[in-house]
Amino acid sequence: MNRKYRKTVIAGNWKMNKTPSQVKDFAESLKALIGRVKWCDIVICAPFVDLPAGIRQFKDLHVGVGAQNVSEHPSGAYTGEVSVEMLRDLGVKYVIVGHSERRQYFGETDDTVNKKVLAVLEAGLQPIVCVGESLDQRDKGLTLDFVSCQVKAALAGVAPEKMRKVIFAYEPIWAIGTGRTATAHQAAEVCHHIRAVIRSIYGARVARSVTIQYGGSMNDQNAYELLAQPDIDGGLIGGASLVPEKFAAIINAANQE
Ligand code: PEP
Repeated sequence: MNRKYRKTVIAGNWKMNKTPSQVKDFAESLKALIGRVKWCDIVICAPFVDLPAGIRQFKDLHVGVGAQNVSEHPSGAYTGEVSVEMLRDLGVKYVIVGHSERRQYFGETDDTVNKKVLAVLEAGLQPIVCVGESLDQRDKGLTLDFVSCQVKAALAGVAPEKMRKVIFAYEPIWAIGTGRTATAHQAAEVCHHIRAVIRSIYGARVARSVTIQYGGSMNDQNAYELLAQPDIDGGLIGGASLVPEKFAAIINAANQE
């Protein structure tokens, strides 16, 4: 973390879990577990149908609400899709873009990710852009090159003044939902590299202002060490964000003066 230059953001990714009526219980439990959170922003990225309940229930807790996906198109004949304008109108502030599950199961490419990033920023929302390598790529020593390509592709056409809204999440695919976390050293190396790629495009001032999260089996046991790395500015948390006690422990790890 480096709070002098950028925000620390702890974001939960509920994936396809929890119904609208379960949101209230979660919010009440979380409220009882976290004190005044001063040193980090908290976000819950919920399924579309949970978003109205999330916005209602998390308001007093100062938890921002995010979506897990959005259409790259502004409106029109795209059955089943949800636009940035719809999310903004609801009060959603963040959108996860390019999660590896969407790349893997729903055919999202670097090009789609870039279009979604541009649409989200145009609407004034904050994209949480996910990048990260497979185990095979890591074993072949391709991690840094692969992640560089993903970062550059995601940012094509993004104006420098929009960069303060962009959040990156480094999520090695082999660490997502597997219980196998990247070591603090591995995570720090790639987050540092992502910042270097941003610096090469936008310069040092922009690069140091961008929040870069780590995601991949982050939990109450490993959060302190990961968050202590200077280039890791928070976490994108799947499994542990579904359990108020576990999510609160990670928030408390980030909420240190
Ligand atoms: C994720 O889905 O973004 C994630 C990091 O999941 P988990 O924490 O369960 O590995």
